[in-house]
Amino acid sequence: VPMIRVKNLYKIYEVGTNKVYALNGVDFTMYKGEFCAIVGPSGSGKSTLLNMLAGLEKPTKGEIIVAGKHMERMNENELVAFRRENVGFIFQSYNLLKTLNAVENVALPLSFRGVSKKIRNEKAQKYLKLVGLEKQMKHMANAMSGGQQQRVGIARALVVNPKIIFADEPTGNLDSKTTMEILKLMRRIVREQNQTLVMVTHDNHLATFADRQFHIVDGKILKIEEQHHPDQEE
Ligand code: ADP
Ligand code: ADP
Repeated sequence: VPMIRVKNLYKIYEVGTNKVYALNGVDFTMYKGEFCAIVGPSGSGKSTLLNMLAGLEKPTKGEIIVAGKHMERMNENELVAFRRENVGFIFQSYNLLKTLNAVENVALPLSFRGVSKKIRNEKAQKYLKLVGLEKQMKHMANAMSGGQQQRVGIARALVVNPKIIFADEPTGNLDSKTTMEILKLMRRIVREQNQTLVMVTHDNHLATFADRQFHIVDGKILKIEEQHHPDQEE
């Protein structure tokens, strides 16, 4: 089942009298239950593409259909509502509130949505268990390891039950062992919950943990590779 469809997508920046083709005719489909990696060198257009998919920037030309809706036709208010309902974000630097504990951090997106305290706490605890932090629920964010903080970041992205999760270099601040644990955890969760995870990275090796790698160079998808990860591996 398709979740994200991109057709003939262009983003052209005017820099002085020059035109920079940050995205130069991109076409692809990403499906439910898939972990997709957008991988390419610095300046290849990864951030631009992610910003388009999340509706944070408008394309110059082309279509972006997410969960059946044309993002390029939405106005700012519609985009904000669309993100609130459908999208979760995982950040390289976790973006936790340091002086709140794990449960409080994960519950935050629900308080912005007016969910009662009881339900907020129940859901936050459910997702902290899912990411393996049942014993650290009351730990302050600033007393946790990087890997634990990113698990909290993942639980916070998941707590609103988004259809799509965007992650920009989510393991950029983690050691290699923790990185692999986090990537496998994300892959298992999106598969189980039938969500779509889109990760941006410059690292080819990290990208092989995804189900499919979308290789981007100079604003073009050069090839799409598939990687088979049997469930037993995890
Ligand atoms: P990546 O995330 O892969 O490093 P970007 O998407 O940030 O690549 O950038 C792709 C290209 O678009 C680069 O050449 C970059 O310099 C250019 N670019 C990105 N944002 C802007 C902007 N706001 N104005 C002008 N050029 C930009
Ligand atoms: P962006 O996502 O807009 O490219 P970042 O702040 O993530 O900006 O990165 C700034 C620069 O550092 C970029 O050129 C990016 O390719 C590079 N970079 C980002 N993460 C890493 C990393 N983990 N290791 C090495 N270089 C990185």
